[in-house]
Amino acid sequence: MSIVVTGATGHLGRHVVEQLLEKVPADRITAVVRDASRAADLAGRGVRLAVADYNSPETFGGVFSAGDKVLLISGTEFDKDRVAQHKVVIDAAKAAGVALLAYTSAPASLTAALADDHRGTEAALLASGVPYTLLRNGWYHENYTENLAPVLEHGAVVQAAGEGRVSSASRADYAAAAVAVLTGEGHENKAYELGGDEAWSFAEYAAELSRQTGREITYNPVSVEAYTGILTGAGLPGPLAAMFAGVDASIEKGELVVSTGDLSRLAGRPTTPLSDAVAAALKG
Ligand code: NDP
Repeated sequence: MSIVVTGATGHLGRHVVEQLLEKVPADRITAVVRDASRAADLAGRGVRLAVADYNSPETFGGVFSAGDKVLLISGTEFDKDRVAQHKVVIDAAKAAGVALLAYTSAPASLTAALADDHRGTEAALLASGVPYTLLRNGWYHENYTENLAPVLEHGAVVQAAGEGRVSSASRADYAAAAVAVLTGEGHENKAYELGGDEAWSFAEYAAELSRQTGREITYNPVSVEAYTGILTGAGLPGPLAAMFAGVDASIEKGELVVSTGDLSRLAGRPTTPLSDAVAAALKG
């Protein structure tokens, strides 16, 4: 029986594997990757590697075994049918008879188009009959803190979220919740609504940036249309820009405030404050 993590060379996947290594022997962990050379460090530490791609069902033959606990990390190929991609993994997990398939979904409250693929994947997972855990991840701090260059350049946080608030948390926090589910008991057929302990507004985010940089950084709220234009102007394809701007509209409506406490409960500690993520990003 293994703990199998897809997307293991991604940002979240790397956190999950690191935290698993603190809890279980390396040879009980399988990292599913597209490019083994990017996981050579993990192999060197005794983690088993499987090379597979959500676009190629045949590559998932033999990846899973009966009794495995699997974390399916949602993909990022927004131009593809992500539900079909994820179904490739679900079908392979079902055929192998895995004990659990945990999926990184989105909060139930999120109505933005971005959430459609997650709803579709959840439906496919429930229909499969495979024991599941829905890790309905809220927003990452890093969505903002890893994109500070234009904010620092212009002295402005530009978003289309009005006075909306976000209860984000760090990727490491969401990874801790996933690890708790993968290494613990009693998580079958449950949905967890995961978000940070504290919600913040973009005005508060700008104020925190000002405090930590010693420079004046203001929040400049714009319309969804204007924000879509800014994103396309920065080189994002139109559909992707519209999708991200749609998330801001959801934030304005309060759809990314998750106040269940599930994340800190599963992680066994408070979630990382936004100010810590800002400090880490500024340190570079
Ligand atoms: P990353 O982009 O860092 O990682 C995505 C992972 O998915 C990568 O390991 C990538 O593989 C893998 N992947 C993508 N397409 C395929 C495919 N066709 N077959 C196999 N693997 C594939 O994202 P994060 O780790 O930051 O986030 C994890 C997921 O959470 C994202 O993929 C996305 O669905 C979602 N997300 C959530 C956010 C939130 O705020 N909650 C924000 C952004 C994304 P490779 O390493 O080879 O590229």
